[in-house]
Amino acid sequence: MELLKQRIRTDGTVKGTDVLKVDSFLNHQMDVELFAEIGKEFLRRFADCGVNKILTIEASGIGIACVTAQFFHCPVIFAKKSQSKNIDGAVYSTKVESFTHGRIYDVIVSKKFLGPEDKVLIIDDFLANGAALEGLIDLVHQSGAQLAGAGIVIEKAFQPGGDRLRAQGIRVESLARIKSMNEETGVEFVEE
Ligand code: 5GP
Repeated sequence: MELLKQRIRTDGTVKGTDVLKVDSFLNHQMDVELFAEIGKEFLRRFADCGVNKILTIEASGIGIACVTAQFFHCPVIFAKKSQSKNIDGAVYSTKVESFTHGRIYDVIVSKKFLGPEDKVLIIDDFLANGAALEGLIDLVHQSGAQLAGAGIVIEKAFQPGGDRLRAQGIRVESLARIKSMNEETGVEFVEE
C-alpha cells in the first residue's frame, strides 16, 4: 500500500536494528484518515470471505481494528491482557510473549463473543516474531470459529513470524512489508 509506505518513510524512525517507531501516526497519535484507507484496503483483500467478527489484541491494534470494522460492518473483539486465571471456564485463554516488553501475558476473550458460527479476521499493527498473531489464532481455534486470515499493517519480513504462519497455511496480508531497516539509511520495503 503505497500511501502507507510513504508515511513510514517520512514519519517512521528506526531504533536499533529491529524496532520501528510509528507513534506519530499509528500507535500513539493516530491518523484516522490513514486508518480509513488501511481499512478499505483490508476490505478489498478480504471482501469475499464472509467475515462477521474482527479480532485484535490490546492495545495498539484496537484503533485500526475499529476503523476497519466500519467497512466490514461487523463488531470488533479485542483480546485482553489479563492477570487473572481462567477460573470458571468462561473465557478462551492463551499466552503471548510481548515483542516490545519481553514479558509473557495471559490473553483472554470471553466465550460470549466468539464461537463456531463466526468467521474471523484478525487485525494487528505489527507482525514481528508472530507471537501475538499465534496467540490470537489459538483463541480462534479454541472457539471453533473459522479463520479468514490476518490483516497486518506493518510486517517486518526479516523477522520470522510471517513466513512461519504462511507456511502453516494461514492467509497473512500485510500492507507494508519491510525487508530491512537501519538507523542511518531507514527502511527498505519488500518489492511486490
Ligand atoms: P510479534 O508477536 O509478532 O513478535 O510482535 C507483534 C507485536 O509487537 C505487535 O502487536 C506490536 O505491538 C509489537 N511490535 C513488534 N515489532 C514492533 C515494532 O518494530 N514497532 C512497534 N511499535 N511495535 C512492534
